[in-house]
Amino acid sequence: MNNKELLKLAEEARKNAYAPYSNFHVGAALLTKSGKVFTGCNVECASYGGTNCAERTAIFKAISEGEREFEKIAISSDNKGETYPCGICRQVILEFGRNIKVVVGESDGEYKEISIEELIPCGFTGADINK
Ligand SMILES: [Zn+2]
Repeated sequence: MNNKELLKLAEEARKNAYAPYSNFHVGAALLTKSGKVFTGCNVECASYGGTNCAERTAIFKAISEGEREFEKIAISSDNKGETYPCGICRQVILEFGRNIKVVVGESDGEYKEISIEELIPCGFTGADINK
């Protein structure tokens, strides 16, 4: 699975976004180290705090299916070009590994790949709790 293929799956997942309040649709596709892909979309709620981002939807789906090791996550939004994960999603991605790659951009255009550690340097992890 290359980055453009993963981005394509994120773009497909974006079509399922439930975003009646922001009208900002996001899709994500998470590649596990075992080669499986879990997709997700943002799910909004009239009580805004109940909203969940596409990245976390994909990660939570994978975790609930027994996956724990992730290679990369691709993100697609309504915006042209790159859309990076929000702070909460960066923290959740980091929870599962400093080397997970984040792929942003378009399957039929430009894209960038960056590590989660670059997106959240000095991030707080379980290792900090156990010091
Ligand atoms: Zn987010």
